[in-house]
Amino acid sequence: MSIPQQHERGAPLLSVTGLRTEFATRGGTVTAVNGVDLELRRGEIVGLVGESGSGKSVTSRSMLRILPPEASITAGTVELDGVDLVALSDKRMADWRGRRIGMIFQEASAALNPLVTVGEQIAEGIRRHHGLSRRAARRRAIELLESVGIPDPARRYSSYPHQLSGGMQQRSMIAVVLGCEPDVLIADEPTTALDVTVQMQILRLLSDQAAERNIGLLLITHNIAAVAQIAHRVAVMYAGRIVETGETAAVIDEPRHPYTAALLAAMPSLHGERNARLSEIPGGVPDPLSIPSGCPFHPRCPRAFERCAADIPLSVEIGLNQDLVTSHQVRCHLYPKAGTGKTTGGVEPSTFATADAGAGPWTETVVTNDDHLTQQGE
Ligand code: SF4
Repeated sequence: MSIPQQHERGAPLLSVTGLRTEFATRGGTVTAVNGVDLELRRGEIVGLVGESGSGKSVTSRSMLRILPPEASITAGTVELDGVDLVALSDKRMADWRGRRIGMIFQEASAALNPLVTVGEQIAEGIRRHHGLSRRAARRRAIELLESVGIPDPARRYSSYPHQLSGGMQQRSMIAVVLGCEPDVLIADEPTTALDVTVQMQILRLLSDQAAERNIGLLLITHNIAAVAQIAHRVAVMYAGRIVETGETAAVIDEPRHPYTAALLAAMPSLHGERNARLSEIPGGVPDPLSIPSGCPFHPRCPRAFERCAADIPLSVEIGLNQDLVTSHQVRCHLYPKAGTGKTTGGVEPSTFATADAGAGPWTETVVTNDDHLTQQGE
């Protein structure tokens, strides 16, 4: 597996702080996103990974403020170039959506308008956000179709979505979003509906476009293998919280949180091969109406000990990344105290299923302020 090289850092382009999103349901209030912190820089790719139901997609939809009526952002900020998107008026947010922050969805066939040619859909966004003439927008749309790898782009300009393969539809969707020239691109499970070969092509396309345009790319996926291919940093999400974040190489090579280790142990190869040691993560993601007390992963965790069911773990900084700006952080009671011991290494994915439940703890440095966290039901 090739792991992306070190990314050159700058000030964060997108900065999410203490984001909380709640849904009003018949059964009560569901906290789908519970105090999420994320940063994304220009030219950087961050992978947000976790199983379905972990809160990844609600996080991305909260950033774009495209939530259903029963959902609302109840705390936190989403700052893009220093402007809090949560506080923008609906009108201003509608202007920024697409032009400053764009989103690629899983099902291009559902996101594209079936009654309008793909070329016109690209040109429409260009005209709306950049005021180009009809002719100039058409020319730009054809250039974009070519840049995303659509063969014979002048002819494909007039194709309707149903006339294209799944891969070509996704490329067209990427061209539609890039046509608005956003600073931040969020790709929500962009390859899930595609076969393995096309998945890799689309991931490479997204990676190349992010680098070429110097934009920030947030890749949301349940597939940690996909993230390992292109992301500079990884954030692992479980039950609405980030449980581990760090450089891709550090997280993949030496996962610290047992959930990250479990995801890696269950990881199918992007090449379609299945690891001989591939294992299932026992149980399922918790019902959002009854999140377990303490660490929400404790009913599934082979390393759980007494404290895990009682206390919510804090984020612990276990080291600075190579850039000395970002850090490797983990939210787990195996890392409980400041400066009282030495690092003993990560959680081996291969030992996930047999790890000693009483093993640990490793002791390192607690640095975070988790005041914005809430225990479900509190
Ligand atoms: Fe959660 Fe405890 Fe397992 Fe850490 S050891 S992931 S705190 S249950």
